[in-house]
Order: sequence, then C-alpha cells, then structure tokens
Amino acid sequence: MSDCLFCKIIAGDIPSVSVYEDDQIFVFKDISPVADIHILAVPKKHIKSLDEQTEADAALLGYMMGKLPELAQSQGLEDGFRTIINTGPGGGQEVDHLHIHIIGGDNLPGFG
Ligand code: 5GP
Ligand code: ZN
Repeated sequence: MSDCLFCKIIAGDIPSVSVYEDDQIFVFKDISPVADIHILAVPKKHIKSLDEQTEADAALLGYMMGKLPELAQSQGLEDGFRTIINTGPGGGQEVDHLHIHIIGGDNLPGFG
C-alpha cells in the first residue's frame, strides 16, 4: 500500500510522534488533536476500514481492543478515555487505513 499515509508513518517514511509499537500495532500522536490527549492506534497490517476486515483479522482487532486501556493509561488517562473508529465516507473516515482514536484529558469535546 505504497500510497497509504499511515503505512508510510508505520514505515517511518513520514515522521510521527510514536508512543507505542510492537509487532502488530503502531501508536502515535494525532497531528490535529481534538483534546489534550489524542493518539491513534493502527494495525501494521493494511486494513482499509472495519468494512474491509476479514475473519483472519479477528485476533488482530481483538488484540487492539485489549491494548486500549494500557495505551490510555500510558498517556495519563487514569480516569477513562474515549475511543472512536470512523468507517468509510459515511462515517467521516479521512485516512483509509483502519485506526482507533484514543482521546481524553482536558478539553474533551462534547459528543454529537
Ligand atoms: P479519520 O477522520 O480518518 O478517522 O482520522 C484521521 C486522523 O488522522 C485525523 O484525526 C487527522 O488529524 C490525523 N492525521 C491526518 N494526517 C496525519 C499525519 O500526517 N500525521 C498524524 N500524526 N496524524 C494525521
Ligand atoms: Zn495503510
């Protein structure tokens, strides 16, 4: 996926502020945070969106969900956090590589 922005970030071809990385996921600060803490967790495997997942991705997606509390706590979000996954144009997805927004801290916006 040579044209994918987040694949380029994972590869280090585009700089980012990384906060966590392992063999399955890459986590970095959103370039336009909507609250004091706003990070993005992405699978290293290019999956376009939740609409494109296959059964083979179930373990990876479950792994990502399981990691969220640890990732939030690593950013000081001890009291809880918000997760958002935008899917497709109808869901407001702007970057076509599945990502989970992890948001919290001061200046958390209202929702809806
Ligand atoms: P989406 O609307 O697709 O759910 O969210 C895409 C997110 O990626 C947005 O919150 C946007 O600020 C973030 N983003 C877009 N381009 C870049 C970039 O080059 N670097 C980083 N760190 N975040 C980006
Ligand atoms: Zn990608």
